Amino acid sequence: MVPFVDLKAQYRSIKPEIDAAIGKVLENASFVLGPAVADFETKFAPYTGCKHAVAVSTGTSALHLALLAASIKRGDEVIIPAMTFVATAMAVDYTGAKPVLVDVHPESYTMDPSKIEAAITSKTKAIMPVHLYGQPADMDPILAIAKKHNLIVIEDAAQAHGAEYKGRRCGSMGDIAGFSFYPGKNLGAYGEGGAITTNNDEFAKTVKILRDWGAEKKYYHDMKGYNYRMEGIQGAVLGVKMAYIEVWTEGRRNAGKLYGELLKNVAGVLAPKTMDYSRHVNHVYAIRVKNRDSVLKKLQDAGIGVGIHYPIPVHLLGCFAELGHKRGDFPVSEQIGDEELSLPMFPELTAEQVKEVVEELKKAI
Ligand SMILES: *Cc1c(COP(=O)(O)O)cnc(C)c1O
Repeated sequence: MVPFVDLKAQYRSIKPEIDAAIGKVLENASFVLGPAVADFETKFAPYTGCKHAVAVSTGTSALHLALLAASIKRGDEVIIPAMTFVATAMAVDYTGAKPVLVDVHPESYTMDPSKIEAAITSKTKAIMPVHLYGQPADMDPILAIAKKHNLIVIEDAAQAHGAEYKGRRCGSMGDIAGFSFYPGKNLGAYGEGGAITTNNDEFAKTVKILRDWGAEKKYYHDMKGYNYRMEGIQGAVLGVKMAYIEVWTEGRRNAGKLYGELLKNVAGVLAPKTMDYSRHVNHVYAIRVKNRDSVLKKLQDAGIGVGIHYPIPVHLLGCFAELGHKRGDFPVSEQIGDEELSLPMFPELTAEQVKEVVEELKKAI
């Protein structure tokens, strides 16, 4: 039996520190924003290589506010990859702008830069690459296209805490980025959480105002904002976890390397490729197999935790039928939807567990 993720193991390893930090929030009754959240922001900004981090309620609200800070509005178009978690597209939709999809690259599974220019129109305002599964998108060509067409770049870094592209941290390469601290993410809260990161002072200030009902000064609402504030308890948990994130990331990377070695010559399994430019942080260990659904079932029956990220690309989701796409429009994304299988991946995953998963996978193929 190998679980898909093991959040209990991680809590046990840091329980005294976490309990004390949560206890302090309770003692102070600083339940919303407050010193623990501010402390976390001062730790997270430099971790991403950014001047500012502004903590919010979820990764989705981080992306929403990142788009609003960049003045994305109704009538605008934002280019996103067709293979991503739906939140990327939803956040664009919340602003009234239209998500315009492009296919992903067949090896990196991130936005294919060669497909972007054909999707640009007079309404395009931004490109939102996703660092999918913990692998950075190919940012240099994306940034060059954005510069050429005067577009904002918003990184969806929800799966890429600590990931690097040619030595640069995810979250620091575009104009603004959104991170998620959903419990299963590489840096997880004990509830919901998110943050934007940016080097742009204006963008950081706007997000701070918008997360708290649009008021810079309490009750003086100059903008129509949101209740997207981070809870004090989440800030306290994340602040404690910042001391361990690099150790945990190395745990994921080691497990990823071992999977890669053991799967190299397994017929019928396509292991994920770590691109030369990336420090992959293995949020998801995404293999591809032709008979995915039967392999998934067999692994589940053998007690191996598995998942699919994601079975349906954005253009084929019911909620985005209005975009007018059909099967065949984004073939690489569709192939990932049909063949992707996520193997157990978490920092505490042992070599023995990785070997057990691979043995069961061989039987299931
Ligand atoms: C998790 C995730 C989000 C949304 O984050 P939440 O904290 O769940 O709102 C956005 N984009 C991607 C790629 C994600 O994986």
